[in-house]
Amino acid sequence: MTKSAVIIGGGLGGLFTGAILAKEGVKVSVIEKNAMIGGGLQSFVRFGEVFDTGMHVIGGMRPGGNIRRICNYLGISDKIFIRDVDNNPTDVLYFAEDKATYYISQGKQGFVERLAESFPHQRENLTQYVKAVYDIVGELDLFFLRPSNSYITVHSDEFMMAANDFIAKYITDPKLAAVVAYINPLYSGRKDMTPAYIHALISVLYIDGPSRFAGGSYLFANALRDCIIENGGEVIASDGVEHIATENKVITSVTTRKGRTFSADYYISAIHPCSLIPLLDNPSVFPKAYINRLNEIPNSYSAFTLNIKLKPGTFRYINHSVFYMSRYDEIWNFGCEDKTWPLGFLCMTPPDIEQGEFSNKMILTAPMTWNNVKQWEDTKVGHRGKEYEEWKTQCAEQLISRMEEMYPDFRNCIESINTASPLTIRDFYAVKEGAMCGYSKDCNNMMLSQVPVVTKVRNLLLTGQNCNIHGFCGVPLTAITTSEVILGNNYVLNKINLMDKDE
Ligand SMILES: Cc1cc2nc3c(=O)[nH]c(=O)nc-3n(C[C@H](O)[C@H](O)[C@H](O)COP(=O)(O)OP(=O)(O)OC[C@H]3O[C@@H](n4cnc5c(N)ncnc54)[C@H](O)[C@@H]3O)c2cc1C
Repeated sequence: MTKSAVIIGGGLGGLFTGAILAKEGVKVSVIEKNAMIGGGLQSFVRFGEVFDTGMHVIGGMRPGGNIRRICNYLGISDKIFIRDVDNNPTDVLYFAEDKATYYISQGKQGFVERLAESFPHQRENLTQYVKAVYDIVGELDLFFLRPSNSYITVHSDEFMMAANDFIAKYITDPKLAAVVAYINPLYSGRKDMTPAYIHALISVLYIDGPSRFAGGSYLFANALRDCIIENGGEVIASDGVEHIATENKVITSVTTRKGRTFSADYYISAIHPCSLIPLLDNPSVFPKAYINRLNEIPNSYSAFTLNIKLKPGTFRYINHSVFYMSRYDEIWNFGCEDKTWPLGFLCMTPPDIEQGEFSNKMILTAPMTWNNVKQWEDTKVGHRGKEYEEWKTQCAEQLISRMEEMYPDFRNCIESINTASPLTIRDFYAVKEGAMCGYSKDCNNMMLSQVPVVTKVRNLLLTGQNCNIHGFCGVPLTAITTSEVILGNNYVLNKINLMDKDE
């Protein structure tokens, strides 16, 4: 008999899980509260340009990459628009403290050699560091889409080390240690807390070669939606789930804002667990300790984003990202409340499908803690008041003036600006404290920050960034784990591997 699943949340996690299950014959209904599906894949049009909101740099999409292989299996690879970033440099880092610029290159050797130009005495350290990074990632079967039958995985000591200690073990020059930690804002890195495996995973994605969406990340969400629909499922937008009915510790139905009721064999929550609990008619279906734990897990920090429409023909298109960092010794402090903002930011020129010589738009994203907007936490979009608007203008000015340090004529390139704060992220995705990557991972207490996809409610599963690893390269892997609870252990992984062999 055909199985059925209702998926709450049409973000990356909900759509990937929905696409996998629909492809395997499960009758899927994905329910999304926003008018636009995609969660972090959402884009919006302002000043005639498409701006992406939460997915700018992506990994695993090169030929043979893990996410590319999942897309091949879903049959969507020829429907998506991706542009690979340059090999050399893949990223440029600017440290304001000493006005130094560093270049990151792709490939293990390229990464070592390019950084060794600035730190020749650390060439061997870099070689050992890169080897250690790849060794850690090698411990993760799922990352390589390798079927696994072991329920208990034993990891090396380095796997669970704090990322900053792991780096310091190999890189003895403090400036270089800061340089190789430059991507930590992409995973909401925190000193003495973020596990080395998170740092290793994101680093490997960069060393192997990142990509960017061309024409807008929403096109990727649409490709996943079409896959669901072509396989007999449905994706409903503009109608969030408001009520989850339970009986005898199982879910019996969900009801939406517009009053539609859906019933299925399985219910999959692809939203932040703290947003799920209040929807349940009877939260005691979960043990109290579990609910307390979900509410107490610290969240990753948030971000302030400045979207810029550039004057035509004024700013050359850059096919890589540029990182502005204030000081070397602040590299792990993006999540600290007591620091001057901004400690750094990421500058991106997202490509159009037919990208010309000049960029039409730019996105500056600067990590920001919830504390910065706490005073307005009870306000709603469009009604946050004059003081909030003035604060946002000041934040935008801070970023623009720092851009002028790297590009002295930058101000003259700006035609119009638009800003988004942690409140925007909280309200659009329903994510607690506007957390950029969902729950924080803590190497000191992994039991606290690892949320399994199965729950005490037999027919309720979880998926999305809060279960495992966030982002474009983490969430689709968890979608496989969630789907395999319904389809059978290794069911999807075996299919992907079989398909690879056939090609
Ligand atoms: C500013 C920013 C920049 C980022 N940049 C990158 C990047 O460059 N690369 C990268 O890999 N990752 C990036 N990330 C992280 C990435 O966006 C997330 O890890 C990813 O989108 C999480 O996917 P998800 O499906 O778990 O959650 P989400 O994408 O948040 O999806 C959850 C969905 O559920 C919906 N929802 C919530 N409540 C309900 C309800 N009651 N009923 C129905 N629907 C509901 C929400 O509207 C949302 O669409 C960034 C994040 C932010 C905030």
